[in-house]
Amino acid sequence: MLSKNRETKQFSWEDLGNIQIGRPNLGNNVPVEIFRLYLYSIRDVLVKKYGVENASDFFRDAGKLAGIHFCKKYLNVKSDFDVFISDLRKIFFDLKMGDVRIESVDLENFNILLTIAEDLDCSGLPITEEEICDYEEGFLAGVFREYMKKEFIVREIDCWANGGRICRFRIKYKTES
Ligand SMILES: [Zn+2]
Repeated sequence: MLSKNRETKQFSWEDLGNIQIGRPNLGNNVPVEIFRLYLYSIRDVLVKKYGVENASDFFRDAGKLAGIHFCKKYLNVKSDFDVFISDLRKIFFDLKMGDVRIESVDLENFNILLTIAEDLDCSGLPITEEEICDYEEGFLAGVFREYMKKEFIVREIDCWANGGRICRFRIKYKTES
């Protein structure tokens, strides 16, 4: 039974617990298929309950929250852009989340094309003609929000799941519309 204060509580990294104490024998890693089992079963339930678009929005919002906290935890928001990106690539690789590359950067208008190969969520999925990495869209928006203190819109334009064999994201400032 979830306690009532979950309704008002803000997520914090401490909510993830002390894994060293909690899993002295099993340790810190699980197979990717188990991670995906969690993710895709939650997605399935959300889609059936709330529809595809709403489920995507939930994942984007959750990804954004995660991205903000991930940035606070692992990245230095005071570093220059090149250093920040190089640290982002390294931490994604070290944590086996994916192999991040920057394809193009227009810093003046802030328009970035970023790819993730061997993506944790989707690499190897059956081809469905969909871009499915809405969680990563939110995650990247959260990371860059925390770094730049601005709102971003991130859209996946290629995905393993649509046959691209790589996930490609366009990251731009969010403009009022
Ligand atoms: Zn993807």
